Amino acid sequence: MSEVANAVLNPVRVKGTVYNTGDGIFLDGTLYYCYKDNCARCLTEVEGEIETEISGRILEDEESKLEESDEKLIAYNKDEITLDEVIADAVLLSMPMRILCGEDCKGLCPKCGKDLNQGKCECQDDEVDPRLAKLRNFFE
Ligand SMILES: [Zn+2]
Ligand SMILES: [Zn+2]
Repeated sequence: MSEVANAVLNPVRVKGTVYNTGDGIFLDGTLYYCYKDNCARCLTEVEGEIETEISGRILEDEESKLEESDEKLIAYNKDEITLDEVIADAVLLSMPMRILCGEDCKGLCPKCGKDLNQGKCECQDDEVDPRLAKLRNFFE
């Protein structure tokens, strides 16, 4: 968790509504946050923004400790809702498993470690360029 939390840039914003159904008080909202992490392939720093739904039942702090429920419970103390835990959960669930700088990131060369997005490395010089191979076929 701490690793994920490190990637999250503050502030985390929440927009939502609190409503009373008669069965209880519920929160229904959207969570927005930005993150900064390294691309899983080339290690370039990437920033992104995530939007995810959050919802749950709001209970008084003491009450929420006693309650056994499958619902997500949001505790509040006096006039403050403690969203930290709910936010932490939502962030954890919505954070991409693999952060990439781009879908077509070429990553680092496994041999020399060069960032292949910035150009080919020496290790690849031996390989035949597919475009050249096509041309060769053309002239045969
Ligand atoms: Zn990358
Ligand atoms: Zn290389």
